[in-house]
Amino acid sequence: MKYLLLLVVVGVAVWIFTARGRPPRVPPKSRRAGRSEPVPMLACAHCGVHLPQTEALTDAAARPYCSEAHRRLGPR
Ligand SMILES: [Zn+2]
Repeated sequence: MKYLLLLVVVGVAVWIFTARGRPPRVPPKSRRAGRSEPVPMLACAHCGVHLPQTEALTDAAARPYCSEAHRRLGPR
């Protein structure tokens, strides 16, 4: 009888824990946004290839380039 009462108490505790743990769960969409922010894409001024803003090289006029070679060659 003592174990039955303990089982009921543990069962209720688990039920409360799981019921309370469900609603605050972050929706998958906003969870993904927090993991990696979207980076704007830029087109290389020389060849037109698209690359993330973080990887782009820029010249004096702030034009984006995909590589040092294309930056030296300039816009086309
Ligand atoms: Zn390029």
